[in-house]
Amino acid sequence: MADHVDEHVPSPRAAPAGRGDVRADHPRWRSHRRARGPVLRLAGCNLTCVWCDTAFSWDPARKDPARPPTTVTVDEVLRRLDPRAAAPDAVAPVVRRIVITGGEPLLQTDALAGVCQRLHQLGWVLEVETSGSLSPGPLTMIVDRFNVSPKLTHSGVAEGARLRWPVLNEFAALPHATFKFVARTVRDLDEAGAILARLDPAVDASRVMVMAEGTDASEVLGRSRELLEPWPLVVGA
Ligand code: SF4
Repeated sequence: MADHVDEHVPSPRAAPAGRGDVRADHPRWRSHRRARGPVLRLAGCNLTCVWCDTAFSWDPARKDPARPPTTVTVDEVLRRLDPRAAAPDAVAPVVRRIVITGGEPLLQTDALAGVCQRLHQLGWVLEVETSGSLSPGPLTMIVDRFNVSPKLTHSGVAEGARLRWPVLNEFAALPHATFKFVARTVRDLDEAGAILARLDPAVDASRVMVMAEGTDASEVLGRSRELLEPWPLVVGA
């Protein structure tokens, strides 16, 4: 099991962490609690999407001075999330569901597996968000759900880097993996459809969702309306 977490913001093209290291970004992960549980955001990404809304987690030029990088041991991560990791008689957290995201968390699968294995033993539900460009490796059967978001042309990332078909097919074969496409225009939906059509095995529509791209609520709502325009909803019909 990995023994510590380095919280810092590496270069976007930095090599993946070796065994024994997990690079996480900011203390945000410990304070960013939602009703459904905490978020663990890991630093570093193998892609460089032009519209990335979490570039602070991988781009040193855009790091957030209010959330400076720190280094935390894996034991400390576990202790902060669930006191039972250090003291079996401690009271369990009410919410035991976590979203692990980034950056690209699968850059650090070996070390992350140690965190996930222990949380799994403690009864946590584990969700991992990924671009689907890296294999889940040892996380495959530990994680309860993978949210896979293949990047489209508008990300500005070269196709060979963002669409790695053997890896996408690996996720397609996992019943606990869902696919999410970030779209700007209706044309993007065609591109997403072409990706889905090429997956082997095929992915059922119930495992696919679309999200409008945007960095604030009005932008997301505006784009959502444009994306839905060709398919007007009839309420109460
Ligand atoms: S894959 Fe995600 S974290 Fe990485 S650059 Fe793209 S949007 Fe940002």
